[in-house]
Amino acid sequence: MTDTKVQGIYLDNNATTKTDPLVYNAMIPFFTEYYGNPSSMHDFGEPVRHAIDKARHQVAEFLGAEHDDEIIFTSCATESDNTALWSALNAMPERREVITTAVEHSAILDTCATLEKKGYKVHYLGVDGRGRLDLDEYRRLLSDKTAIVSVMWANNETGTIFPVEQMAEMAKEVGAQFHTDGVQAAGKIDIDLKRTKIDMLSFSGHKIHAPKGIGVLYLRRGTRFRSFMHGGHQERGRRAGTENAPYIVGLGVACELAKMHLPMMNDTVKELRDRLQYGILKAVPNCFVTGDVENRTANTVNIAFEYVEGESILLKLNEYGIAATSGSACTSGSLEPSHVMRAMKIPFTSAHGTVRFSLSRFTREAEIDRVIEVLPGIISELRSYSPYWQQNKPSMGEFDPDYKGTL
Ligand code: PLP
Repeated sequence: MTDTKVQGIYLDNNATTKTDPLVYNAMIPFFTEYYGNPSSMHDFGEPVRHAIDKARHQVAEFLGAEHDDEIIFTSCATESDNTALWSALNAMPERREVITTAVEHSAILDTCATLEKKGYKVHYLGVDGRGRLDLDEYRRLLSDKTAIVSVMWANNETGTIFPVEQMAEMAKEVGAQFHTDGVQAAGKIDIDLKRTKIDMLSFSGHKIHAPKGIGVLYLRRGTRFRSFMHGGHQERGRRAGTENAPYIVGLGVACELAKMHLPMMNDTVKELRDRLQYGILKAVPNCFVTGDVENRTANTVNIAFEYVEGESILLKLNEYGIAATSGSACTSGSLEPSHVMRAMKIPFTSAHGTVRFSLSRFTREAEIDRVIEVLPGIISELRSYSPYWQQNKPSMGEFDPDYKGTL
């Protein structure tokens, strides 16, 4: 590795975000100055304890939680997701069913696969071509056997937002717990948990300009809970292990900043996202936006390009210093479209060519314009190598400015 600073256009903020310098500065004293153990009764422990209390309050405010003690600090959203599912099943052993969706993050899907091996029944809700859930199917699956429903608030690949508040109400009718993976919703949607029936919510610091390695599990007061971490009484016995004070402090500041920037996310960042989407759809034939275009997070656009491989597009973009991500995962030499694209039944001629661009409050207009400038050339070059494109080259219709990008 060289010491050259990475320069470029970063449009992969759903994967991770840059730590805000204000967050970083707030953390620094907690490494070398305020390093006491927050559980210690002496003078070294006390300021750290107070700083953690303050951060807990900042997170509670950010989520609209009624009580600060509903916030449990974890190491990441993956830990929070795992904790939520196992807790519900261990707290209600008479209920052995889980309902989730086919488009969750692997933190949920892989845990569910493990649960199935242990004999639990997991129902996976499908989605339609625009990534939307069928609430009638959901209603039919809910029963007094359901321990927990886990549905993400927003999808990481397409940004599609799910009606979790309504789904939580429905879960309550059968006495099931309701968990949402709020990783991609945090900082993009105005979350006010006290007005909902959501019992648990996971989110992660590194998606909202805090560092990697800090997460949260919101746990509504009164929700039956079983910790699977044992070894100490931290976090009121709900998550053993000495608190990661610097990161907790950073997360508190990141939450305050995310709340402050929420209007900017939904106007400035959204405008930039729409500018990017419009620019690409106008300049590149045979591509479309995947997911629920009308109902998605403001920073995300996922575009399927027919007759090209997403991985090839990413490599070419990278040559121009542009970072995005693809719905294809190159595993053992075969390009598999992502489970989200497969669940939406995106035709194979385009499912391989999906690219997700995800913006942040640090994204600039000139960066968006640069992508619009270089991408059409990349796509036409890649298509010129594609026998499929040569054989099937569809006639390129006029660009329709009212086209909303749906299938
Ligand atoms: N859930 C969703 C929807 C995500 O997008 C991610 C990260 O990409 C995670 C969970 C996992 O978060 P973490 O990296 O904090 O474990």
